[in-house]
Amino acid sequence: MTSKKVIAVFGATGTQGGSVAKAILEGKKFTVRAITRNVTHPNALALQDLGAEVVKGDLNDEASVEAAVKGAYGAFLVTNFWEGNSKKKEVYQGKLVADVDKRLGLKHVVFSGLVNVKRLTNGKLEVEHFDGKGEVEEYFWSIGVPMTSIHVPAYFENFLTVWKPMKASDGDYYTLVLPMGDKPMHGMSVADVGAVVSSILNSPAEFLGKTVNLSAEALTIQQYADVLSKILGKEVRDAKITVEAYEKLGFPHAKELANMFRFY
Ligand code: NAP
Repeated sequence: MTSKKVIAVFGATGTQGGSVAKAILEGKKFTVRAITRNVTHPNALALQDLGAEVVKGDLNDEASVEAAVKGAYGAFLVTNFWEGNSKKKEVYQGKLVADVDKRLGLKHVVFSGLVNVKRLTNGKLEVEHFDGKGEVEEYFWSIGVPMTSIHVPAYFENFLTVWKPMKASDGDYYTLVLPMGDKPMHGMSVADVGAVVSSILNSPAEFLGKTVNLSAEALTIQQYADVLSKILGKEVRDAKITVEAYEKLGFPHAKELANMFRFY
């Protein structure tokens, strides 16, 4: 009996990496090595129950990344900008994994990257949580790691959390406060990212060396509001906020997100 090849999954206790780990386990072609700083995390234990090997690893610690990736055929990497809110930290972590993957000779890495908006716009617009991932993606290509990058659009799940409808102050309805004007915004369920990554890993000849832009649907904010109205049974409207007003809302990262909407 030949043993299955191993895919090392960073971020496996999180939303994207969790979706990836589950889909790979369901595919039964590969073994999943779930990497986490906390091997007793309930999501880590749930993955263990599903058949994953759970190992300790910290993206800020090269020796632990090397130990976590050693012997693997491939890897999935997502870095979390929002923990630390630092492009510098995100770039450090991404490049560290790229160097280790190169040194250990991994055969297929799927990296959850994004567009380097700063480079694309010649420095006119900066979206740090995009730019850092873009920089890491360029680094992966430059050192010759066999890689597929995926660009994940806005999670539909954001409408249940950070973008949930707000109660209007002047009537019996709710609003979505996202400054997209009349432009459609790409989205997908993050729960579907895993199936995509599993397909990519199953078809290296088709996907190695490529960037795959993901989107399930691109809807205007009013169209997203219509979907929510139908499901919630309460009226939801596009608040029609301008990007200038949005960035002055004063919540943490308002400017960073305003720039993301400018890019969208
Ligand atoms: P999440 O659910 O918060 O999960 C974060 C994961 O990162 C956890 O599994 C955590 O593992 C791991 N992690 C963080 N720091 C680590 C470290 N130092 N060492 C090892 N693991 C570490 O986040 P997510 O949504 O899956 O991914 C976040 C990323 O998605 C962000 O960078 C964001 O820009 C990107 N993104 C988000 C959207 C969206 O619409 N929300 C769309 C596209 C891209 P442990 O805590 O178990 O160690």
